[in-house]
Amino acid sequence: MSKILTPDICVIGAGSGGLSVAAAAAAFGVEVVLIEKGKMGGDCLNYGCVPSKAILAAGKTAETFRQSAKFGIRPVEPEVNFKKVHGHIRDVIATIEPNDSVERFTALGVTVIEAAGTFTDANTVIAGDYEIKARRFVIATGSSAFVPPIPGLDTVDYFTNESLFDNTRKIGKLVVIGGGPIGMEMAQAHKRLGCDVTVIEGAKALAKDDPELTSILLEKLRGEGIEIIEDTMVSSIAKKGKSGIRVSCKSGNDELLIDGTHLLVATGRAPNVEGLGLENANIEFTGRGIAVKPDLRTTNRKVYAIGDVTGGLQFTHVAGYHAGLVIRGILFRMKAVPDNSIVPWVTYTEPELGHVGLDERDAREKYGKVTVHRWPYHENDRAIAERKTVGHIKLVTRKNGTIVGASILGANAGEMINMWALAVKQKIKLKDVAGYISPYPTMTEIGKRAAVSSFAPLTRKPLIRRIIGFLRKFG
Ligand SMILES: Cc1cc2nc3c(=O)[nH]c(=O)nc-3n(C[C@H](O)[C@H](O)[C@H](O)COP(=O)(O)OP(=O)(O)OC[C@H]3O[C@@H](n4cnc5c(N)ncnc54)[C@H](O)[C@@H]3O)c2cc1C
Repeated sequence: MSKILTPDICVIGAGSGGLSVAAAAAAFGVEVVLIEKGKMGGDCLNYGCVPSKAILAAGKTAETFRQSAKFGIRPVEPEVNFKKVHGHIRDVIATIEPNDSVERFTALGVTVIEAAGTFTDANTVIAGDYEIKARRFVIATGSSAFVPPIPGLDTVDYFTNESLFDNTRKIGKLVVIGGGPIGMEMAQAHKRLGCDVTVIEGAKALAKDDPELTSILLEKLRGEGIEIIEDTMVSSIAKKGKSGIRVSCKSGNDELLIDGTHLLVATGRAPNVEGLGLENANIEFTGRGIAVKPDLRTTNRKVYAIGDVTGGLQFTHVAGYHAGLVIRGILFRMKAVPDNSIVPWVTYTEPELGHVGLDERDAREKYGKVTVHRWPYHENDRAIAERKTVGHIKLVTRKNGTIVGASILGANAGEMINMWALAVKQKIKLKDVAGYISPYPTMTEIGKRAAVSSFAPLTRKPLIRRIIGFLRKFG
């Protein structure tokens, strides 16, 4: 017979979103049950952000050896040991793992059930030997790689993000289907680790970002030797020889055949709704995800859904943001509504591509007249010293100077976009940025320079010129 639990909150899924809800609720002394059917930490720790950033770091290190001549150091082609690269990835995961572990959450006072959770009715979830009747439920079951129904795909071996980081062998030629952030990050990491790489994208690569910046990034990636084929649809896949693959594609009227030794499918994400019994609990969902109201409640008022499973912006920090909002709703009855316009994101290629707020096109659509301010890395002293001069910052402001969006392509863009996320959230004006002191020499200065340069046309006005002249003479 199953054991009945009646906590305040029952969370299904112990990934970025679910863990944050459970930890916050436990900190307030609320009784929480957390259900996880796979690995604690979810996609981010085990198959997503963490291993992908670890392999990118390995690739970046390998590339440093090749690019050392400009610093006066003899370049060498590094010897890459894939087994050891795999060891590095595992070690990084293992170092972070204790934060997300059953032991830690149990110590925080959370009841962790290691089983799959399924709704049996609108008020009940069963998991393992337990029947949970909670005051509120939070579904945080994430997403999985979407595998498109390409003829022949089921006849070959292929990687998704769930298997790629288990690889311990050198890859001869990796064919990546999908030119989104995951596809492009993995393409660069593998290229730098010595594999040949071709990316096939049905539309434009990195299409969610500003084309002015992505075109520079794609040129840089192509320059490193990654073949990126856009506007090309994969029509079928077959085995080639003993262990290879052949990908047939259509590009306009042309047929292309691309051969490789390994295949990575990175064609988007599908919400993890299977087996949840959503229909038993009157929770509506589509192929994109669980339908949520502005306050993240599902069509069952007792049940919230957060993170990737809602099909919106699929990032760890969004799952965490959602978690904070539902905690406010459940514990303090505050209606908290996510604001996607303040969510930043980063593609961790080198150079990195970071964005927050509205891009130029969306800002024009929303506000009509907007101004774009740019500053290039090649005019930044630190970037010159480190020979990382590719890219620029783009700031988008309204007529009254409020910053509504920022995009950065270049070294450390992922770190630098933090400041602009704050600026957009706080509706900071360009003159505020022009007035703060940025330490020299830092790459972050490009933002300040973009802001200051926007006031340059003012100095051409006769009255301002007279005032400047006066101040120079007598000031
Ligand atoms: C390769 C890759 C790289 C990425 N890099 C980044 C990055 O750099 N930055 C970033 O912000 N985001 C990144 N992401 C996205 C990020 O991983 C996700 O947005 C984030 O993990 C979503 O959190 P979540 O809580 O919604 O789901 P998850 O973290 O996936 O957690 C869901 C959990 O629910 C469990 N579950 C599912 N169904 C059930 C059930 N019925 N019962 C019990 N448990 C269940 C799953 O096993 C899983 O552990 C990356 C993703 C991938 C694939």
